[in-house]
Amino acid sequence: MAGSKNVLELHGSIHRNYCMKCGQSYDLDYVVNSTGIPKCSKCGGIVKPDVVLYDEMLNEDTLVRSIRYIHNADVLIVGGTSLAVYPAATLIEYYRGNKLILINKSPTPYDKKADLIIQDSIGKVMQEAVY
Ligand SMILES: [Zn+2]
Repeated sequence: MAGSKNVLELHGSIHRNYCMKCGQSYDLDYVVNSTGIPKCSKCGGIVKPDVVLYDEMLNEDTLVRSIRYIHNADVLIVGGTSLAVYPAATLIEYYRGNKLILINKSPTPYDKKADLIIQDSIGKVMQEAVY
């Protein structure tokens, strides 16, 4: 929505939803405007967000592409994460550059590896960077 052209959604997106029974797609508005558990208007199945929940596998292709992008990146900005949830947090290990920027309210296990640490809200920092 911000205009990025190459986005890898490692954990999926709540903007896409689908019926677990028949596969029918639904947008976020449908889910938000549902009462209780969102149900499919065609078959009555449960409508689930297209996100990877705990104990579910990450999409392997997206994971491999993420590793390649990070490995080849000149600058890596990691924001709004405590870098405590695996395996996503370990992706930072694939960065080979010398411009690692961490933006988070609290310290992370990777602070020692960072070239620049900004201890603040990612939303606030990015908004100030734009204006
Ligand atoms: Zn359905």
